[in-house]
Amino acid sequence: MIRIIMDVEKYIKDSYNEVIRRNPQELCFHQAVREVLESLESVLKEKPEYIEANILARILEPERMIMFRVPWQDDTGAIQVNRGFRVQYNSALGPFKGGLRFHPSVDLGIIKFLGFEQIFKNALTTLPLGGGKGGSDFDPKGKSDYEIMRFCQAFMSELQRHIGADLDVPAGDIGVGAREIGYLFGQYKKLRNEFTGVITGKRVHWGGSNFRPEATGYGSVYFAQEMLKSRDDTLYGKICVVSGSGNVAQYTTENLIDHGAKVTTLSDSGGTIHDPEGLDEEKLKFVMELKNNQYGRISEYAEEYPGVTYHPGKKPWVFPCDCAFPSATQNELTLEDAKELFGNGCHLISEGANMPTEPEAVQLALSSGVLFGPGKAANAGGVAVSGLEMSQNSMRLNWKREEVDSKLQQIMQDIHQQCLYAAKKYGVKDNLVAGANIAGFIKVADAMIDQGLV
Ligand code: NDP
Repeated sequence: MIRIIMDVEKYIKDSYNEVIRRNPQELCFHQAVREVLESLESVLKEKPEYIEANILARILEPERMIMFRVPWQDDTGAIQVNRGFRVQYNSALGPFKGGLRFHPSVDLGIIKFLGFEQIFKNALTTLPLGGGKGGSDFDPKGKSDYEIMRFCQAFMSELQRHIGADLDVPAGDIGVGAREIGYLFGQYKKLRNEFTGVITGKRVHWGGSNFRPEATGYGSVYFAQEMLKSRDDTLYGKICVVSGSGNVAQYTTENLIDHGAKVTTLSDSGGTIHDPEGLDEEKLKFVMELKNNQYGRISEYAEEYPGVTYHPGKKPWVFPCDCAFPSATQNELTLEDAKELFGNGCHLISEGANMPTEPEAVQLALSSGVLFGPGKAANAGGVAVSGLEMSQNSMRLNWKREEVDSKLQQIMQDIHQQCLYAAKKYGVKDNLVAGANIAGFIKVADAMIDQGLV
């Protein structure tokens, strides 16, 4: 027994060191891996068969990584070249599944971190979904519709040979919304001569699922609600700060308003607006029009509504609140931010974005008794409804909005329960970060063992 305990610690350390050696400089990827590995010691002690099967080495290495050139022409006729990525990380539970991100910061390390997180998140949904992620360093900001279309077509011209409804099903992420999904799907359909559920996040009238746009943000709020329930509390009357102003931030805000909470901030990469009165339905409509159709900046919200202030270069965490919903990007909430947030009374964080909270800030949240919903669990509603979109596409059916919402609520409750259960069972009661990692990992590891050394 002692031999196994010592071996487990060494096994985890060696596995992590190997990731660093093999993937130098990919800091976000290292961070995502470290967090999962730190959760697994007691699991590996209980299940030495995982070590025998060398599951860590196998789960840490993507099944396949594809990188490709994306040449396209801008509106002036100049030739541009971007880099495309698809990391097909793990297919033990189902076809690879995960979004596409178009942002200038995208590189292989970012896609690997997102793909790795996706494996465990997808496992938590209880749907048959493997994990993957993709994207490009293309920057959609300031591009015309035609430029976006030409880029999406060029991107899909290569990606199409690597994906398929039963193989790998991409979706949206930062910089990839309904417009981009439409162009990507159109090009796939033309090149492959088939209309299948090869991509999710489609508009509802041509194969999309009702409630997919809402799913990630609504799911993050449902998860927050579950966490509060454990303390006999609700979201009603809570002051909430939300970061970002894209898909996740918008629908987080909508659902918070529905729950009687007051949302006082939104942001983008330029800065933060603070609205002490809180957003309402009409103000949110303005944000949706501004961001989804005009592709404008959040500063314009402060010009529209009196009493609202705009804070260039600032993040929402400086404003007092009860609950925080980071919904923009990775590592947007630092240790300093967390100290300020908690000092101002914040007692709940639900991560709508992927890995938005730096590890030291997560530790502070956990040690301060702040309710903390990790992205893998709290933002899994998006991929869950994408999974439901795949089911509807296979059946050639379209479920009603209420039906999808009720399935989403059930899934978010189940995910919360799985995290709580795993955390308790493995000696880290109430730590949902470890609980999410453990519950997701066990499902994938068991499937990998069942399927042999492939
Ligand atoms: P959108 O592109 O719709 O919106 C992204 C928002 O975040 C924008 O307001 C953007 O501001 C801001 N943002 C992006 N990068 C940065 C940055 N480096 N610094 C500051 N602000 C930034 O993306 P989504 O809302 O879809 O995604 C937001 C997060 O949620 C991401 O982490 C994504 O991985 C995660 N997520 C999304 C899911 C989905 O279903 N869409 C599912 C699960 C997770 P600006 O316009 O100025 O760039």
